[in-house]
Amino acid sequence: MSFVQLPESVTTCRNLVGGEWLVPRDASLLDVHSPYTGGIIGRVPMTPAEGVAQAVEAARAAASGWRNTPLRERTAIMARFRALLESNLDRLGHLAASEAGKTVAEARAGVAKGIEVCDFALSLQNLDTGGAMEVSRGVTCEFRREPLGVVAGITPFNFPAMVPLWMIPIAVTVGNAFILKPSEKVPLTACALGELMVEAGIPRGVFSVVHGGRETVEALVAHPDVRAVGFVGSSAVARRVYSEGSAQGKRVLALGGAKNHLIVVPDADEALTAQSVVDSFTGCAGQRCMAASVMLAVGDVQRIVEQVRERASRFELGPGMGALIDRASLNRLEAAIATAERAGARVLLDGRGKKPVGDKWAGGYWLGPTILDGVRPDMEAAQRELFGPVLSIVRVPTLSAALEVENASPYGNAASIFTTNGAVAQAVVEGSRVGMVGVNVGVPVPREPFSFGGTNESKFGHGDITGASSLGFWTDLKKVTRKWTTRTDGSWMS
Ligand code: NAD
Repeated sequence: MSFVQLPESVTTCRNLVGGEWLVPRDASLLDVHSPYTGGIIGRVPMTPAEGVAQAVEAARAAASGWRNTPLRERTAIMARFRALLESNLDRLGHLAASEAGKTVAEARAGVAKGIEVCDFALSLQNLDTGGAMEVSRGVTCEFRREPLGVVAGITPFNFPAMVPLWMIPIAVTVGNAFILKPSEKVPLTACALGELMVEAGIPRGVFSVVHGGRETVEALVAHPDVRAVGFVGSSAVARRVYSEGSAQGKRVLALGGAKNHLIVVPDADEALTAQSVVDSFTGCAGQRCMAASVMLAVGDVQRIVEQVRERASRFELGPGMGALIDRASLNRLEAAIATAERAGARVLLDGRGKKPVGDKWAGGYWLGPTILDGVRPDMEAAQRELFGPVLSIVRVPTLSAALEVENASPYGNAASIFTTNGAVAQAVVEGSRVGMVGVNVGVPVPREPFSFGGTNESKFGHGDITGASSLGFWTDLKKVTRKWTTRTDGSWMS
């Protein structure tokens, strides 16, 4: 296992605007802390509206040249970017791990997923060639994709490389000028992605990085020249960005938070189920929008519950498990566990106050795996996204009762069923209203090109952020109808 190597010096991040790295005027600087130690590893400028306007102007100036660059040439540049992601996988993995608190293995997997999205984007030159047909004699209909112009991607802290890479390869390859506004908690990986785009030969202004928080997002979403906004983050902000952007006639796809259910029935494979549940709720210290947060225990699955508890209790805190993003997150989670306890939940495993192995990590934000049993569906621990390594076990008598709890959730990202019975699995596949269903899989992230996206309050807007439907998001479909009459009066024709 490769443990995280934190950056040796403190980097002051810059915006990438018109191909230049610059600190925006009048920007305050925010410290970036590593969740592993609490130490400062960077500083990030909080770009005010004027700096956003400057970046949008540079992107607008570059957009028409990029739009008119043939798809094959755009693809060649993005192929170089893909190759650079691969050769820098280790560096990006350590950087993303340092600032997001995830393990290096998880951070590397996020970059690998980004490479998968690149592969999809690179295949467009061969597979997405438009279409044409003679619809009546002498009349041909054709459709072609056209880029929108300037588009933006606003991303969360928990996947510093992967979530930007859900958007960048597709949006840029189809011909847009893309502005990335990464989370202010993880700006370093975004800068590294910008450096690799520049190294790949992306023309000035076609890819920009603008750092900041709420004010920066509001300025981007309000800017009249930004045609589309891809957003990934919490549901409250996703809803706001969606409604503000849509009200201004923009195209917005805003992915929000989640509360994912793992349904476990008595015929489930015990070892596979227990390990999958543990991996799902502890991975990335529970800070994954696909993390299991509720186990719906159907009937007598006590032996599996005991195995889950036993396996989760073996974790040592430190770089082998991953840390919470900040102190506020740790405080919020500890309070949520106490609230659940007061509401009648039993703490089967308590991760509060657990110390990491090694003095080096003592200043980090640590919470050990925590399991709450006897959680009722109406409790906060069953309903609200906690975003940490906390599993709530809700006991239900039947599969239909489990589906009822699952479908009553306002979220709709993912759900999984653990069973050895195909008919039981099928009932969940058909009966669950989430966007991504797993069968004996703890984190049911589809591989590309099967696309990523939930339903309900886990996604505001239409289509998915990756895969074929993302093409419709980042482009307009132009339909052309041509009619030619054959003139016979010209002697030059024969
Ligand atoms: P967040 O909503 O706090 O921040 C997301 C982005 O929005 C950041 O770039 C941030 O700077 C910006 N932002 C924050 N507050 C804002 C405001 N008031 N107005 C405008 N912009 C604002 O989310 P986070 O804490 O960075 O990330 C964790 C959340 O993201 C969790 O809820 C998680 O489930 C969700 N998430 C969802 C998916 C998905 O695919 N559905 C994937 C990853 C993360």
